Amino acid sequence: MDVSTPLRDFPGVGEARAKALARLGLHTAGDLAGYFPRSYEDRRERYTIAGAPLDRPVCIEVLLTEEPRLMNIRRGLDVTRMKVADHTAAMLVSFFNQGYLRQALHRGEAYILYGKVEQMGNHRQMTNPHFEPAGRPRFTGRIMPVYPLTAGITNHFLAGLVEEALAGLPPVAEPLPEDFRARYHLAGAAESYRAIHFPRSEEDLDAARQRFAFEELFYLSLGLGLLRERRSRGAGPVWPEADPAGFYGLLPFSLTAAQRRAVEEAAADLRAPRPMNRLVQGDVGSGKTAVAAACAWMAHQAGWQSAMMAPTELLAQQHFRTLTALLEPAHMAVGLLTGSMRAAEKREVLAALRSGDLHLVVGTHALLSQGVEFRRLGLVITDEQHRFGVEQRAAFAAKANTPGDPLDITPEEGFSPNVLVMSATPIPRTLALLLYGDLDVSIIDELPPGRQPVKTFLIGESKRQRLYGFVRAQVQEGRQVYLVCPAVEENPEGAWDLKAVNEYARVLREEVFPDLRVGLVHGKLKPREKEAAMAAFAAGETDLLVSTTVIEVGVDVPNASLIVIENADRYGLSQLHQLRGRVGRGEHPAWCILISENRSPDTRARLKVLTETSDGFRIAEEDLKLRGPGDFFGDRQHGLPALRVADLNTDTRVLKEAQSAAAALLAADPDLSRPEHAPLGDRVRRLFDQDPDRFN
Ligand code: ADP
Ligand code: MG
Repeated sequence: MDVSTPLRDFPGVGEARAKALARLGLHTAGDLAGYFPRSYEDRRERYTIAGAPLDRPVCIEVLLTEEPRLMNIRRGLDVTRMKVADHTAAMLVSFFNQGYLRQALHRGEAYILYGKVEQMGNHRQMTNPHFEPAGRPRFTGRIMPVYPLTAGITNHFLAGLVEEALAGLPPVAEPLPEDFRARYHLAGAAESYRAIHFPRSEEDLDAARQRFAFEELFYLSLGLGLLRERRSRGAGPVWPEADPAGFYGLLPFSLTAAQRRAVEEAAADLRAPRPMNRLVQGDVGSGKTAVAAACAWMAHQAGWQSAMMAPTELLAQQHFRTLTALLEPAHMAVGLLTGSMRAAEKREVLAALRSGDLHLVVGTHALLSQGVEFRRLGLVITDEQHRFGVEQRAAFAAKANTPGDPLDITPEEGFSPNVLVMSATPIPRTLALLLYGDLDVSIIDELPPGRQPVKTFLIGESKRQRLYGFVRAQVQEGRQVYLVCPAVEENPEGAWDLKAVNEYARVLREEVFPDLRVGLVHGKLKPREKEAAMAAFAAGETDLLVSTTVIEVGVDVPNASLIVIENADRYGLSQLHQLRGRVGRGEHPAWCILISENRSPDTRARLKVLTETSDGFRIAEEDLKLRGPGDFFGDRQHGLPALRVADLNTDTRVLKEAQSAAAALLAADPDLSRPEHAPLGDRVRRLFDQDPDRFN
């Protein structure tokens, strides 16, 4: 047997089972070894019928005291029942829809059952236990792996196949060097494969998990390290005179200490010989835009252009307005470039970028398109970075390679501009280490003075009329209100409870608030319509803004004091926190009302977190716990490979070790070109394989 031995060669695997196994991605013996259990059952201890605890499944050896009886309950549902006993008591065992068991189980024989004992009055029973003959038990007395399954494949069957594969396969090659494993106390590969499937003890399992978690995070760190290495090798613009002091006086407010720290840290990067790669992380409303403006100003002082990319048109337009206001006093020319602009407008902006007449351009993905050329691009800023893939970040930075005016310097191959990344999502530390492992981080942990926390409440339908009264009261005080609902159209799967935004807006306009001015903005509108609706709200021309989550990030209307979120259970906590950040941006007290009829205790507990804290980092940690890193941003746009074993909530220490191990290795062999590192290099590149651009 070798890793490529097809599963059809295994006893008990015919065509039907081979097909079912293929659904699980299992085709060969090697696949089996790499198919890790999802959890484990501790079947080491045996109990008696009378002595078994009721709160968890246990193993009990019993004698079948009567022939199994098959009963039809109704069409499609039957039950096979039998009496069993040991020296302490008798009990009734039922199997649903497993009529074939009548042939498999025989009176007078001993079996080991694994299941949960239930107490009914004064007798005990068990439903659908696993069982094996007591004479030749295979999975009793040990820790049993539990695998993800599919129809036609039982856990016992799959565990049997895995056990056979592990016994038959030659020992796996050890990709990690011996001295390396010793230094980081890592179990061997072959040993770990055995133990992850069939651990002999908790410690045994732990050691295997540690090893695999380390390995995963190590490869990941190496991959990110290679990326960073590639980038830092490039030369970049160096501005030895960079100094933000002259900019502070131009601002209409004084920066918070945290903003100032971020600006000073960025200034130090700009003066240093290697290109800046800095993440500015700050909760919604912490004032990241002013930090970006300061950097663009420093770039301009040094004679270079800047570009800022935002994830949506709305945000690009807003940044454009804000930055224009902040930078015009400094005589900087700010332009806007978005996909929806007319061709003539675009041409004008493109020409001004090429000639250097524009000092800062704000835009969407449109900035990445062909034909966008700069005279001298020295700083790229991305807002809400995690919404862009890592590749886009790279593509954007590559714009600085575009040869500009031939009379000016022609950037060398590998030239990198300074990069500033802004994120309003407080990314949990562990995830940030991975996502932004290649960036320096400034944290803005302070809000501008006078901000008050947004009071947050969770309500059900029964309070809807009172809520409408509250909305009206806010408007009467001169404030404005956001009403957020999830979908533009009725969900095709018949999710009738989703408030479709059009219908919702109609009801509010015509029935609930006929006397108020109600705006509407959603993703299906034309960009111009969206812009008009947002602008009207920002200018105070509408009282209420009904919207989908297009207002999620960054939109800034200080007069808005209340946000109502319908079907709040549909969103992730971080997303709700972002939405909530749309209010409480001015001097007025602010509220967030979450509406949900979902009664599930989990959902309520989740939403309660928001009513209890406004600490974005805590909220993000909760989200990560509940949803896992792959889902953290609602999709996989961040482009990280999925982790099989490592858990970013609990494996922080392993992550740190893996990162320092990767750093040490790359310090010795920056592109893993030494022959002894070739297998590692291959693995790392394969890990990022779905994304070949990654290493270009
Ligand atoms: P975010 O970090 O969410 O992008 P913004 O940069 O949009 O935050 O800033 C939020 C609001 O706070 C804006 O209206 C901005 O003008 C204002 N602001 C930023 N910094 C300060 C400050 N130091 N003092 C007062 N207001 C500030
Ligand atoms: Mg912002």
